[in-house]
Amino acid sequence: MSRSVLVTGGNRGIGLAIARAFADAGDRVAITYRSGEPPEGFLAVRCDITDQEQVEQAFKTIEEEQGAVQVLIANAGVTRDQLLLRMSEEDFTSVLETNLTGTFRVVKRATRPMLRARSGRVVLISSVVGLLGSAGQANYAASKAGLVGFARSIARELGSRNITCNVLAPGFVDTDMTRALSDEQREKIVGQVPLGRYAQPDEIAATARFLASEDAAYVTGAVIPVDGGLGMGH
Ligand code: NDP
Repeated sequence: MSRSVLVTGGNRGIGLAIARAFADAGDRVAITYRSGEPPEGFLAVRCDITDQEQVEQAFKTIEEEQGAVQVLIANAGVTRDQLLLRMSEEDFTSVLETNLTGTFRVVKRATRPMLRARSGRVVLISSVVGLLGSAGQANYAASKAGLVGFARSIARELGSRNITCNVLAPGFVDTDMTRALSDEQREKIVGQVPLGRYAQPDEIAATARFLASEDAAYVTGAVIPVDGGLGMGH
């Protein structure tokens, strides 16, 4: 059965791979983008998740075009790396504003119709870094760790309405975000990954699809690592 799916930040990277996986399975997929030309094959809505008005407008468009969102993949996220002593308050709050508060805005808006429908799937894209920590990423790690408490609270609040909320925690994935790292940094990271390589975005998409599938009907409040073994023990 075709479902109405929204992937925030679905115009590139992990989000685009997730959007493609749902579309290939026959779902109606909306993606958000902020600028430029969005990829074809989806309902593309311009939306910056730091702006409440744009979030509301995006949901209205999606509801008109493909029906209320039944599966939300909250994927949009940013980094602004800096060592703590050099990290400005702006560096910190801007990352929290997108990764955590932006996710709150989107989840809050998406779950309203899910509550009425007594059904829904929410997947939050966190990171292995949220659990392991990472030097130079205190802002990012805090935002990604915050998603875990957020998801588990929602899992408790909305479970009785048949809405699941899970966290997917990728390790290092080959996208624009990690291409910004130096060769030396990349080599060091790969050296710590038991599987000895980066993930491809499709490998993250497969788990997102599972969490939104009927097979995962009894999975909620979980943190699922897809990290090549990097975060083992967490
Ligand atoms: P990219 O940098 O390739 O893409 C980030 C996406 O988020 C883009 O679509 C971007 O939109 C969107 N985005 C950023 N800020 C906003 C905003 N304010 N409003 C709406 N959309 C926004 O990153 P990845 O694909 O690598 O990452 C996707 C998610 O996965 C992120 O949450 C990231 O933290 C997480 N992750 C990534 C890992 C990796 O190794 N790559 C590892 C673990 C987690 P736009 O094109 O408009 O900028």
